Amino acid sequence: MPKDSDQRVLKKRVVIIGAGFGGLRFLYDIKKQFKNDMDIVIVDERETSLEKPSLVEVALAGKPVSHTQIPIKNIAKSQNAEFVNSRATMIDAEKNLVTLKDGSILNYDYLVIATGAVKNYDAIPGFKEYGYSVCDDYQAPRMWNAINNFKGGNIVIGASKTKWGEKSTDIKLDAPCEGPIGEIMFMLDFFLREHDLREISSLTVFTPGKIFFDDVGPKIHKKIEPIITKKGIKIVTEKVITRIEKNSVHFEDGTELPSDLTLVIPPYTGPELIKDSGLGDEYGFIRTDEHMRHPLHQNIFVVGDCNANSMPKLGHIATLQADVAASSFANEITGKGSVIKFKPEVFCIMNRGGVEATLILSDTLFGGKVDKTLNGPIAHLMKWGFDTYSYYTRGKLPPELLQKSLETMLKEF
Ligand SMILES: Cc1cc2nc3c(=O)[nH]c(=O)nc-3n(C[C@H](O)[C@H](O)[C@H](O)COP(=O)(O)OP(=O)(O)OC[C@H]3O[C@@H](n4cnc5c(N)ncnc54)[C@H](O)[C@@H]3O)c2cc1C
Repeated sequence: MPKDSDQRVLKKRVVIIGAGFGGLRFLYDIKKQFKNDMDIVIVDERETSLEKPSLVEVALAGKPVSHTQIPIKNIAKSQNAEFVNSRATMIDAEKNLVTLKDGSILNYDYLVIATGAVKNYDAIPGFKEYGYSVCDDYQAPRMWNAINNFKGGNIVIGASKTKWGEKSTDIKLDAPCEGPIGEIMFMLDFFLREHDLREISSLTVFTPGKIFFDDVGPKIHKKIEPIITKKGIKIVTEKVITRIEKNSVHFEDGTELPSDLTLVIPPYTGPELIKDSGLGDEYGFIRTDEHMRHPLHQNIFVVGDCNANSMPKLGHIATLQADVAASSFANEITGKGSVIKFKPEVFCIMNRGGVEATLILSDTLFGGKVDKTLNGPIAHLMKWGFDTYSYYTRGKLPPELLQKSLETMLKEF
């Protein structure tokens, strides 16, 4: 730790933009190591950190939306960090300055960009009038209202196609995060059955990819596909949505599907902040080095959905990247310890309604051999445990040990 001539510790000033999975994980990581020897400012335009994985339960099981919102001021207070509730509008990476919406300026020694990605609903004509989604705390309760007024008919759900920078993104998935669509289709099927609407409703899932769930391997497909078939859910592939109308959904290949209720995950794009500051690729995502540092500005770390190589866009990957960034930061400050190697994997749990859930752990997309699922009430209990722990510990994830032993157990199956 750098000290002045009187041996006082010289505090570094770290500004974190974004209090989602990536930003909070970085905060908790460096607080654990440096306690109060760091001057930390966390900037977020929202007042609450949003637990997005719980939004599907808000939209399809009536979970109170407040159970997905963690006040950031409480998080900052518990970590002895300063919370600035404002939108960052510009980064001057040469001068180490961040400009906020009201024109005020923050200086930093190190910057963490953890702004997530923008869900671009406006890119789908007709979405505003006829479309539904679950991706934020406005859309999820809106969907709960819609499904409660649904009287039966055709339901179409799916993910939009997202465009990626040719040079900045190694893996280019057509849909950046298809897991929620899986969870939505099972939860919808369950809801319709519970409300005696399943027999008078069709449920069709479209994907822009060649296969649905193209971020996991064949073993997982072999386990999940029979469950989908048994529930009478139809999957259509290579469908790129172009517009939504009152009773139909239209695709790039000229085809359409009848739909009385259309739910989509919109295309992702990088945040304005990155685009306006000229720090990213043509779509506003930043390619980093293997330590999650900006290639031209080494005192800037980029973690989570706004990192070009976060693929698929998952909270789990955001936290893995934050761990790498925090270890690289600590290594530079203390000259000790090693930098964690980034080993991406897909890890998520999809509720299937009632006490059923499917846990997925796969690294085949990254050249690995792990490709496992765990189906049933135990997976449901785990999802409940993860979400509840995270909510009541202000955005922390369950103890490392628990997750590691779970992963080891699955790998040994
Ligand atoms: C419905 C749904 C279900 C999901 N389920 C899962 C799951 O089960 N498992 C899983 O691993 N992943 C899941 N994901 C993906 C996961 O939520 C994201 O990958 C994760 O939230 C990304 O974390 P992040 O920190 O990069 O960004 P975010 O969580 O999006 O946080 C970014 C923060 O930055 C703030 N911000 C943005 N721009 C600015 C600015 N200019 N100034 C100030 N603040 C700013 C935002 O307000 C926000 O608080 C799901 C996503 C959705 C939509």
